[in-house]
Amino acid sequence: MDKIERIEELKREKNAVILAHYYVDGAIQDVADFVGDSLELARKAKKVDGDIIVFCGVYFMAETAKILNPEKKVIIPYYKADCLMADMAIAEEIEEFKKDNPDYAVVTYVNSSADVKAVSDICCTSANAVKVVEKVDAEKILFVPDRNLGSYVAEKVKDKKIKVWNGYCPVHQKLTVEDAERRRRENPDAIFVVHPECKKEIRDMADFVGSTSQILEFVKETTAKKVIVGTEEGIIHQLRKERPDIEFILAYSEFVCDQMKMTTVDRLLKALEREQFEVEVPEEIAERARVAIEKMLEIS
Ligand code: SF4
Repeated sequence: MDKIERIEELKREKNAVILAHYYVDGAIQDVADFVGDSLELARKAKKVDGDIIVFCGVYFMAETAKILNPEKKVIIPYYKADCLMADMAIAEEIEEFKKDNPDYAVVTYVNSSADVKAVSDICCTSANAVKVVEKVDAEKILFVPDRNLGSYVAEKVKDKKIKVWNGYCPVHQKLTVEDAERRRRENPDAIFVVHPECKKEIRDMADFVGSTSQILEFVKETTAKKVIVGTEEGIIHQLRKERPDIEFILAYSEFVCDQMKMTTVDRLLKALEREQFEVEVPEEIAERARVAIEKMLEIS
């Protein structure tokens, strides 16, 4: 029996459900029960039927699944798979800000730790950030932690004062205007799609800006035959499945999140065999973080 067959067998034996983000390896996406972006996975995590949720992605995502499913066992195949952007926001600093600025609502991107979510008024994802900021009952917003997604939201929501935390995704941040221009020169017939975690000057060059799920929806319908992809390379696995007739070109050759690639078939197999590594969130943190996540799910 090969490793994938053994994973399938263990899934059935243990009544486990595998959730995977679009940025993990294609082999992991293929063995998962559900593949999605942060919003889709947060929604799915709430409805999951199994006894064990195996979360293939980075730690904050598994934490979110645990917060929404406190009674379930949530495991992550590699417990050190960390989102570098999530580490850029500190709960104590946000609390200080709130003390000094009580008229601000804190809107926090789900790419954040449970501690940070717990001190936030509401969460958002890249798919619903604009909608959440528009609907939140405050005229002044602190947007945490992604300065690029925050500036994208500020461009769209002009009637609110939006202060942006100085965090960023190092993987999206690395895409330069020179890289993007080179790709466009090499592929003059291609369209360019980007994630809002990219810098403003990159977003301004794009034909479409959207979250991973929005990019997928957009590409399903496009008449273009070549697409330059301005987000993590894992998405191309799903894009090719949807549109095998399109040529996909990565906007720069190292558009890879190493942390997302820490989930390998071997680690996933071990995780299922040993039911490791279990994710725990202290209930006093989880309770407050859950409120912020559920407010987002209501709005979206
Ligand atoms: S791609 Fe960026 S935001 Fe996403 S998990 Fe990796 S470091 Fe975090």
